[in-house]
Amino acid sequence: MTITCDVAVLGGGTGGYVAAIRAAQLGKDVVIIERGKLGGTCLHRGCIPTKSLLRSAEVYALLNQAETYGIETDGGRLVFPKVQARKREIVDKLHQGVQYLMRKNKIRVIEGSGRIIGPSIFSPRSGAVAVEFPDGEMETVVSDNLIIATGSRPRVIPGLEPDGTLILSSDEAVDLDKLPESILIVGGGVIGVEWASMLCDFGVKVTLIEMAKQILPGEDEEAARELARLLEKRGVKILTEVELKPDTYVPGDGGISISAAHRGEEITLEASQMFISIGRAANVEGIGLENTDIRVANGVIAVNPHFQTGESHIYAVGDCIGGLQLAHAASHEGLAAVNHLAGQESHIYDPTFVPRCVYTHPQIGSIGLTEARAREMGRSVKSAKVPFSAIAKALIEGHSDGFAKVVVDTETNDLVGVQIIGPQATELIAEASLAAVLDATPWEVGSAVHAHPTLAEALGEAMLAIDGNAINV
Ligand code: FAD
Repeated sequence: MTITCDVAVLGGGTGGYVAAIRAAQLGKDVVIIERGKLGGTCLHRGCIPTKSLLRSAEVYALLNQAETYGIETDGGRLVFPKVQARKREIVDKLHQGVQYLMRKNKIRVIEGSGRIIGPSIFSPRSGAVAVEFPDGEMETVVSDNLIIATGSRPRVIPGLEPDGTLILSSDEAVDLDKLPESILIVGGGVIGVEWASMLCDFGVKVTLIEMAKQILPGEDEEAARELARLLEKRGVKILTEVELKPDTYVPGDGGISISAAHRGEEITLEASQMFISIGRAANVEGIGLENTDIRVANGVIAVNPHFQTGESHIYAVGDCIGGLQLAHAASHEGLAAVNHLAGQESHIYDPTFVPRCVYTHPQIGSIGLTEARAREMGRSVKSAKVPFSAIAKALIEGHSDGFAKVVVDTETNDLVGVQIIGPQATELIAEASLAAVLDATPWEVGSAVHAHPTLAEALGEAMLAIDGNAINV
């Protein structure tokens, strides 16, 4: 059977379903093809479940620190199955929300696995999608435009493939029914540090190893150092410049053992479980790209600034095109792609100013370039930093570690980057994001009245501090 439509979307994750809704809003007849669950990684295995687990971990840690706030308790009792049940409830509710949005926007959802086909009896150009259903039945979707949004999966280390018991990736870890006594986290990127922070708050003994010189490679060095210091203070053992030796892996009844080279010395690492978080690989295989002129470069689908692939009627968005691999990047790419195919004025989307958030305790929120990266690129920049210890609300909250840092171009006075590490940093970064879109100068942002006492004062003060006008530091 053949299904025809204006726009077909392959993959119903954040990039895909947002693109589908936008296309329907513009009057297009839309079909979305999803082999798993609508909502994709973000909803079922990524952003949402992990942030729910992190929130429970935070509450548990806070209960154990209640005395700091003048409250005596016997501490909390962690009932992990209930933590997981709360997470499932949130995910289910949001999943129903996405299904409702599909119905509301009259988007046809096809539950099957899609593969792009070349020119055929269905269409003279490539881009029709052959869909296989779980029962083996097939259907072909023929559209004017196709948007590929097939996402990504955890990268694996050959010889250390996740087995769901001793070796985990984020896909298995998110559904753990029991916490391990200890864990070795391999990879200190965003996923690795978030799990380190969460498991440490849940009372798990955590060792985190990272190949680069700092955790969160690519992020501001000072912010990464501050996070490492605070995680270590809570008991996380962090080792950087570590090269794991997969062939020394020994599984056992009580856990795992593996050797690694650490700054020239051989070390042995032992834990109840190992969690591999070394990045994500784009889902570009098995989707029929070989039947098209779509190019794959460095493992991701190559696109132009409008998200068009080598076939101009086929777009690609989200994790499958690489880049930041964030949910909000995927959704904005989806919006930009649909606006372009529909001939609408383009959506403002500058990847430089996409917020990068780390939901550790404390959190990190950043946009734009770090000071070091800007200098490497030959830009003349200056920076200012305001510690949360100078902000009254941070002291009231009981979280006064960290800082807000602003990086500015000395010639143009343009905002180059903002890095915040501290309480609610992932919320506070929204102001910097808006400032970047509005092309506001630091003085303009600092002149906006920030209520007192609020955490937002940290960014306001840092903006003023650029020209030496901060009041509280
Ligand atoms: P996906 O969400 O992966 O969706 C792709 C969909 O395509 C999937 O549903 C898949 O089943 C479907 N699909 C693939 N191939 C086919 C096919 N052939 N036929 C039919 N369907 C197919 N990002 C943030 O912004 N904030 C966070 O806090 C955050 N936390 C994260 C935590 C973890 C542990 C992980 C793993 C990721 C996290 N991310 C976070 C990243 C975020 O989840 C991704 O960037 C986002 O999901 C990308 O959306 P997408 O639509 O490109 O891909």
